[in-house]
Amino acid sequence: MEALDLDSAGYPGTYKLIGGRVSLNFINTVSWPLTDRRHDWLSSVTNVHRWATAVDLDAHGIRPGEIDSIQATRATITDLLSPLAHGQQPAKPAIEEFNDMLSSSNARRSLDSTTLAWIWRDQTPQQTLLDPIIVDAADLASRRDRSRLRHCPACDWTFYDETRNGRRRWCDMADCGSRAKSRRYYERTKA
Ligand SMILES: [Zn+2]
Repeated sequence: MEALDLDSAGYPGTYKLIGGRVSLNFINTVSWPLTDRRHDWLSSVTNVHRWATAVDLDAHGIRPGEIDSIQATRATITDLLSPLAHGQQPAKPAIEEFNDMLSSSNARRSLDSTTLAWIWRDQTPQQTLLDPIIVDAADLASRRDRSRLRHCPACDWTFYDETRNGRRRWCDMADCGSRAKSRRYYERTKA
């Protein structure tokens, strides 16, 4: 999969839209979470705009002063979805914090009287960007069967497995998949 053209600020890695769902692609904008290689791809307005365009969201009007709050929303969504992608239950306070955001998003949502599509009203630019992500996260979390909501065992990025056999293992075969494969090859041949 092609890497998305984000400014890496000297970081030696790449970002790819491997999540399969917008809320997972959003939490994956932190590479190598909880390690000293951690890198935040949404630390500039330019990157927020490029990311939003790539996932078909509108980041029009987002200002530099809003980056912190976008990252805080991402942390709340991560605390909900990342445990689920590891087969664990999110912490109660994390669910409550997420629910506060969700009620606020839901209050802005209704059905269009002609097309019956979801429409949003009275959104700030930041809400325009984040509301659809919050609703997507709620949809994923509320599924009875979460067996396809998983994480890459190498880098911890999360994805929704939409392969027919449900056996997807890696974020991307070209990255973690092939690294694991060459490691196995090395281990087999070094003896
Ligand atoms: Zn990976």
